[in-house]
Amino acid sequence: MKATISKFAIAAALISLGSGPAYADDLSSGVAADMPELMELYRDLHANPELSFQEVGTSKKLAARARALGFDVTEGVGKTGVVAVMRNGEGPTVLIRADMDALPVVEQTGLPFASKVVGVPASGVETGVMHACGHDTHMAAWVGTAQQLAERKDQWQGTLVMILQPAEELGEGALAMLDDGLFTRFPKPDFVIGFHDAAQFPAGMIGYSSGYALANVDSVDISVPGIGGHGAYPHTAKDPIVIASAIVMRLQTLVSRESSPLDPAVVTVGSFHAGAKHNIISDEARLQLTVRSYSDASRKLLLDGITRIAIAEAMAAGMPEDKLPTVTVQEPYTPSTYNTPAFTERMAAEFRERFGDDRVMKVPSVMGGEDFGQFYRADPDHIQSLIFWVGGVPHDQIDKAKAGEISLPSLHSPFWAPDAEKVIATGAEALAGAALSLMPRAGG
Ligand code: ZN
Repeated sequence: MKATISKFAIAAALISLGSGPAYADDLSSGVAADMPELMELYRDLHANPELSFQEVGTSKKLAARARALGFDVTEGVGKTGVVAVMRNGEGPTVLIRADMDALPVVEQTGLPFASKVVGVPASGVETGVMHACGHDTHMAAWVGTAQQLAERKDQWQGTLVMILQPAEELGEGALAMLDDGLFTRFPKPDFVIGFHDAAQFPAGMIGYSSGYALANVDSVDISVPGIGGHGAYPHTAKDPIVIASAIVMRLQTLVSRESSPLDPAVVTVGSFHAGAKHNIISDEARLQLTVRSYSDASRKLLLDGITRIAIAEAMAAGMPEDKLPTVTVQEPYTPSTYNTPAFTERMAAEFRERFGDDRVMKVPSVMGGEDFGQFYRADPDHIQSLIFWVGGVPHDQIDKAKAGEISLPSLHSPFWAPDAEKVIATGAEALAGAALSLMPRAGG
């Protein structure tokens, strides 16, 4: 912690003297010197967001930057993904990932560089587009990391693979890059690392979880057929609203009665549609579920249980065998993200040394989703993996929220405006520092 304070003091002194480059061997001051330019890039990325698998301008812009730094750059990997490789002698291969896509959200932050972009997502309905998940901070930090590591080639040896991933919000971009040869056409990593901004921690704080960090995310559609008829003569019909209601209630027992209390799981029915008029018994009800779990076994238990319950409730209502519910699990699903424990602890120790104990904390895992876990899943016997959080909430807002004066916006909110400077500086320094410690110079 003492070392950290003095490091920051030096960095602050350097900035005020405007003499960053003379101390370029110090990572904190190196990143600090790059920050004005990285903030300019961030504001540009924020004002020009692109939806999932449409990150054409973004990927082109950042690929050019990586090329200028001396990386061997390939574009169009997994549709709009970018792979930038820097070979620097014998040593391990480290993959650093940032995601590029924005969301169909109409920005309401009021920032001077707020997005006015409109776009058409997969739904086909035109909408405003916003970096409401902070992927713009990830990309600016990615560039900051690349700059530091390119500048410090004499301080590490190994192979650095820096990737820009499309379509994280669809949960499809990581898989698209892997399917397009990420680990066969390019060096396969020993370590994969990335970060996500966090809307619940103070800006500049690092949070990490060991083991499962984020959940398996399954989207499930259930079609529940009925036998339609007149609302006044229910005995001549089979009411799918009653059957589907029974299904919704019975689904609650999957988590409460079938899952282990020690194995986190969620079954949420987010949509229930049926019927058109007061006095008509409909001939179909439709349910849409989000299903969350950590382990493969838990996922299977939930998905099998959903099908069993849907069919059994229809049978209990006397539906004929050729008119039982159909359950569709969307593919591809987003698999859970696993932070390999030994590697996670090693990196956490590195972060503590760099930033001080008070800026690094172990945090609970969440049931949210991230497709970062795909990289580890591609070869779990070999790859070590970590995604960590970097807090983005401006400090004055934390104080106001504590005083009950405001409630904090979450990620994906049209009001999410992180303290980008702290997120980017912390993210870049953490990622570059991690890479330097994972690829030490022989004899250095
Ligand atoms: Zn995100």
